[in-house]
Amino acid sequence: MTGQYDVAVVGAGMAGIVAARDLSALGLSVVLFEARDRVGGRTYTETALGGALELGGGYVHWTQPHIWTELQRHQMAELQPPVPSEKIYWLADGAVNAGAESAWLEDVKPAIGRLFADARQRFPIPYEPHVVDNGDIEAQTLEERIDALCLSRHERDTLEGALSGMIHSCGVHGAVQLLHGAATSFGDYGALLETAGAWSLPPGGTKKLIDSILAECPSVHVHRSSPVQSISDDGSRVTITTRVGRLVIARAAIVAVPINTIRDIDFTPELPRPVQAILDQSGGTPNPLKACKVWARVRGQIEPFSAFAPPGSLPISAARVEKPWHGGDTLVLCMCADAAAIPATSGPRREVVETALRKFVPDIEVVDTAIHDWVNDEFSKGAWMMHRPGGFTGASEIRKRHGQVHFAGSDIAVVGTGAIEGAMDSGAAAARSVAAALAKDKLCESKI
Ligand SMILES: Cc1cc2nc3c(=O)[nH]c(=O)nc-3n(C[C@H](O)[C@H](O)[C@H](O)COP(=O)(O)OP(=O)(O)OC[C@H]3O[C@@H](n4cnc5c(N)ncnc54)[C@H](O)[C@@H]3O)c2cc1C
Repeated sequence: MTGQYDVAVVGAGMAGIVAARDLSALGLSVVLFEARDRVGGRTYTETALGGALELGGGYVHWTQPHIWTELQRHQMAELQPPVPSEKIYWLADGAVNAGAESAWLEDVKPAIGRLFADARQRFPIPYEPHVVDNGDIEAQTLEERIDALCLSRHERDTLEGALSGMIHSCGVHGAVQLLHGAATSFGDYGALLETAGAWSLPPGGTKKLIDSILAECPSVHVHRSSPVQSISDDGSRVTITTRVGRLVIARAAIVAVPINTIRDIDFTPELPRPVQAILDQSGGTPNPLKACKVWARVRGQIEPFSAFAPPGSLPISAARVEKPWHGGDTLVLCMCADAAAIPATSGPRREVVETALRKFVPDIEVVDTAIHDWVNDEFSKGAWMMHRPGGFTGASEIRKRHGQVHFAGSDIAVVGTGAIEGAMDSGAAAARSVAAALAKDKLCESKI
């Protein structure tokens, strides 16, 4: 079966959905291919532990222009504030420290200040990340940057604990993406943390938002359970072939799949060498973020707390009381820097999570847990984007137009890299770029 469209969009995460909607609003015919049997990608509202949970991305902020515009547009701009933590626990040099937030901040702030001191000089115009030549730190890992601070064990563990909800391990990530992220938050890492992981969507969550966006563009043909196998570009048309052999011809394509999965699609002609170099990093894992998020339902109403541990020291590297939960229980958010430390089956997982949380709160009782394994999911092959050294700058090669093929997604976004905001920004930018290219082609055709 062959269909003909103006644009084929591959991947129905936030980037692909926004791109499809924007192109459709311009009167272009759009087909959207999604590999999974659901849309939303690494945002995933699911019923678990007795209520609706975000198993993927779910925290957003009013300082993020694209997501905030969408939330307002769809009457979802009533964000749920975080529950203030009455106590903070932080593991450093083998000992658990405990105190009010002010005590933790006093301990962690000096090292954070030094780590991000030059963020704004490095990225004075964050949406133009190449204004300053940062070649001297391009290949630097986060670990090397922290080494250079010459911290005591206690200081280092406290600092790494504050980063641990965002990273897999300091040795695999480049320093540049976090520096850039801080620069987008006025050089303030605390502000970046708040933007990335504090305020939740109102009831309905990311699923409601996605459904609302798709409802704006009923003419977009959405094909679920349709992984794209190959994309062939003859210079004026692209042919998209799915794994089951469905063929579609379009004037342009937007590929909005996670960076670790781009290599699973066969491109003709081959993607340019600089793009392949990024995609081939470390055996095809330019995103080394093998972390996961676990929701824990804990018995009874407990004192709101936050906890931090350096990545690799405990199965749970950051935790926070999220909100009161059904049946008089409490919902706790757990971020795990290494998903491999969290068992796939629920019984052992409950025990591992409870044991890790008891390091901080000795009498905590975990009733059950919920998780989605993004690392072993073939359509994500990793969690949120946190580039390897060289990757943040190198992603500009992927963002370029490649014949009739354009790329989008949070993994290659400039601002909001690794976040829903970046996905939406990147999807909208790809749509503008495709629309402009198609308009130009049409003008050329009419002149011939
Ligand atoms: C556990 C977790 C927590 C997170 N927390 C937050 C948060 O609190 N706030 C925040 O802003 N961000 C968060 N993020 C990141 C955020 O969810 C993602 O950056 C964003 O949703 C990615 O959107 P995307 O459209 O770029 O990619 P994706 O959402 O990954 O969408 C890509 C789509 O492409 C599809 N696909 C893959 N291969 C193919 C193929 N061959 N053919 C067709 N389709 C294909 C996939 O199935 C997927 O639907 C989190 C991510 C995870 C995993």
